[in-house]
Formats: sequence, C-alpha cells, structure tokens
Amino acid sequence: MNTFNHLIKQINFRIIVVLIVTILVTACNNKLKNKVEQEHPNITQLKKNSAEFTPEIIKMNANVYVAVGYDGSNAAMLIGKDGVIIIDALRALGAAEKVASEFKKISNKPVKALIYTHGHLDHTGGTSAFVGTEKNVKIIAREGFKKELQEHSPVQNILEKRNGRQFGRNLPKEDIINRGVAAGSTSKDRVNKGYIKPNTFFKDSLFVNIAGVSLEIYKANGETNDALFVWCPKEKVLFSGDNYYKAFPNLYAIRGSKYRDVKSWGEVIKKMSTFPVEYLVPGHTRPISGRALVNNNLKNYSAAILSVYNQTIDCMNKGYSLQQTVDNVKLSKELASQSNLQEFYGSVQWGVRSIYLHYVGWFDGNPTNLYPLSSKEEADNMIELAGGEKKIFKNILKAEKEGNYQFGLQLTDYLLNVNYKKDEVSKMKIKLLRKLASQQINAPARNYYLSYAYELEENIKQ
Ligand SMILES: [Zn+2]
Repeated sequence: MNTFNHLIKQINFRIIVVLIVTILVTACNNKLKNKVEQEHPNITQLKKNSAEFTPEIIKMNANVYVAVGYDGSNAAMLIGKDGVIIIDALRALGAAEKVASEFKKISNKPVKALIYTHGHLDHTGGTSAFVGTEKNVKIIAREGFKKELQEHSPVQNILEKRNGRQFGRNLPKEDIINRGVAAGSTSKDRVNKGYIKPNTFFKDSLFVNIAGVSLEIYKANGETNDALFVWCPKEKVLFSGDNYYKAFPNLYAIRGSKYRDVKSWGEVIKKMSTFPVEYLVPGHTRPISGRALVNNNLKNYSAAILSVYNQTIDCMNKGYSLQQTVDNVKLSKELASQSNLQEFYGSVQWGVRSIYLHYVGWFDGNPTNLYPLSSKEEADNMIELAGGEKKIFKNILKAEKEGNYQFGLQLTDYLLNVNYKKDEVSKMKIKLLRKLASQQINAPARNYYLSYAYELEENIKQ
C-alpha cells in the first residue's frame, strides 16, 4: 500500500513539474514573440503619417479647394469671378480626371489658367483633364521649365532603377507603408498622358490678374531650379509647390539628383513667411489653415534648412572631412521635435553630404582619401586584420543578434568584395537590410533597403 501511495505521489509530482515547466516555457515564448513582433516607434510614426494622403477634396474657404491623395501630389483650384485657376495637374491622367470632375461639381466656371509649380512629372502629367475643351488657357511656368530633369540624363538607366527603389515601386503591398510625402502606391491610369506644354513663361516674377483674381508668382529655386510659388493676396492663400510639405525637406533625393540649391530653398521659405498667409497649400501632404500656425511652420522650416546649410559650411571651413561634417551637423532639439520636420522624406545627413560635395567635389581634403585602397584591397587587409573571413562572418551574426545592424551590413561588404560564401553572406545582408528597414522613419530609405533586399534574393535564386 505504502509503495502504491508513494507511486501516486511521484506521478503527481511529475505532472506538477511538467505543468510548471510548460507554463514557464509558454510565457517565455510569448514574451519572446512579443519582443520580436513589437513595432518600432519610428514605424508607428511613419504609418500615422499616411493620414496626410487620405483622398479628400479639402475646402480652405469659399474659393480655394485642394485635392489631396488622389495621386502622389496635390492639385488645387482657385475660383475667380468668371473662371477658375488650377495649380498643378497630378501625374496620371486618370487621377486628374477624377479630381477635375470633383472640381466641376464645386464650380463649373471655365478654366482660365493652370500653373505648374515646377517641372516634376508628378505635378504635370494630367493637365488635359483640367483644360478639357477650353481654348486660350494660360499654362504658366518658369523659364527653363523641366530643363534639368532626369529624363535628360546620360545615366538615365541607373537613375530609373534607383527611382524604383526609393519609391518601392516593385515591393509587395505588405512591405509598403508610404513614400514619405505620398501614399505607398499612386495611380497608373495613363501616367503623363495629359501633359500640355506651358505657353506663358516668366523669369523672376509675374504679377497677373486672371478671372478677376490678382496673383503674384515668384521664382523659388529649391527642390528644383524651375520652382515657383503663388501668392493670392485676396484669398490670403499661398501655393508653395514642393518647397514645403509636412516632412523634413528632401534636400537630396537618393534616387540620384543634381544639387538642389539648399541656401536658396531656405531663403525662399523665409520669403513665404513674410506674407500674411492664412492658407498654405503644399505640393504634397494636407494644407494648413490659420495665420499663426502657417507662419510658425514656415519659420521653423526655413530655420531648419538654413541651420543645416550654415552648420555644414562652418564644418567645411574648419577643415572637417565629409564624414566628420555629417557626424557634427544636427538640428536643434526644438527644431527636431517639430511635427513638420520629421524625416519621413528628406534626411539631415543626406542634405549635409549634398551641400559638402556641391562646394568641393568628391575630395574632402584628407590626403588619406586621395588614392584610397580598392574595395578588394581594403577588404583583404581588413579580413586579415580581423583574423580571417570566418571571424568576420561570426561577427556579422553577432552584430545582427546585438542589434548593430549598420555595422553588420558594413562587414558583409568586406566578405562580398572577396566573394566569400557569396550566398550565405548575401542572405545575412538581406536580413540586416530588412532589420534596418523595420526601424527606419525615412520612407525612401526604408523602401530602398527593402527593394535592394528583394533584388539580392532574386540574384541568389538565379
Ligand atoms: Zn512632387
């Protein structure tokens, strides 16, 4: 009997131990799962920003309407006495037709003029939808309109590829959050099929009265050298084009862009802030109402751009190298915390690099960089120093585990440069790129990381 009781007790004890272990393991697993699945706060913020592109026709006042989210950019309508003026024409004719029909419901007065704030395709592709059968419509742009665009570049092929990565054009839906200042995907319905060439040009400024509305149009070098902004004193509305939107400005585009005149950009925004603007209509993201708010936004935007510019120039004059300059230039805490200066689209670092190279070209003054080792030589030496390829590979795994993704990524390049276990190393590179993407607030950077990761994956399969 005693033996039997003892046996029962033993079994019970075992069951209890198994239960406790199971509970502990499940709890641990759940904790681990939660840890893995927890979204980085940058991603949460980037997702929230998508509200800026929800399709809507926004009424600013009785005579000013803005179409947001119908395509990648905004189009606006200004209603005058005997006609309307359209500012920017979207990218796809299909999207422009939808907006034009919404605008017609609000006012069926004839279109008297259409103003291009700059030559980028996303603002000029749907014009014919707005112009319709109207005759003598003024199509207004700056002299030199579209002259410096990428379609005229001798390196068009690679620019095209980089453009696709920046905007995540080939990414699966589940990977796309947005494009920083536009939704994750935009209309493909007859892209650029509605473009009409401008017929009215100006050099520095143009003061006109169209449909009974006085407009002041000013040149505004910034994102492009053909940019302008429109001020309408009667309605107190300012159309900024792409020199202003709700994100840190894209002082340099990673798809590959010519120098954007950063100093002028900052000054142009400063000039905008001198007008008594009640309504600010940007080229992307939702418009803003209220004089104090608009003024505050324009002022901090201009301050941020000029601060990045001035700090970069200071560092350069001190003889800092490119990387030292990048390491040193920062926005003040106050500017960095502003909601309209988050790096959803542009990046402070990229702006600094762009300014630096604009003024001195590729050589940063450090003689080490006059004749650097080739990528292969550098890799060979670093691998030897580190104690061999295996050790570097181990360190890549370690870096990934410890969250040092950028360091890990840089290490993968050493091994790829000497063709060491190409597929295995590429797989680690893919993993690290995805980890970086999962923490990135900047949509172009995130899209680029993910697009590149898919391309590497394709290479491995082949
Ligand atoms: Zn744009």
